[in-house]
Amino acid sequence: MKTTIRDSLAKKKRLWLFSLVATCLPALVVAAQTPQPTPVSMAIVGGLLLCFVILGVAGQVFLRCPRCTRTIDPQFRLSHFNPINYCPYCGVSIDEPLHR
Ligand SMILES: [Zn+2]
Repeated sequence: MKTTIRDSLAKKKRLWLFSLVATCLPALVVAAQTPQPTPVSMAIVGGLLLCFVILGVAGQVFLRCPRCTRTIDPQFRLSHFNPINYCPYCGVSIDEPLHR
């Protein structure tokens, strides 16, 4: 079975969401575990939240159409409610094989 563009985008999207959760959860745990904020705990939480923001912005450019390389994340992110079946820029079906 060949990997489709949709499979590839879904895999990248899952990886992106996992990395967002993986940076957000430790920040919440550190913040919850320290009743009195210390400079070290604040630095850890701040650093993780900075990573969270950077990853969030990176997600905007991370999911690209493999054919025209334009970002299709805003449309693809809403796929549960408003699924797209083609790239909005080049028109390639996202159910086509990733590699021809
Ligand atoms: Zn495209």
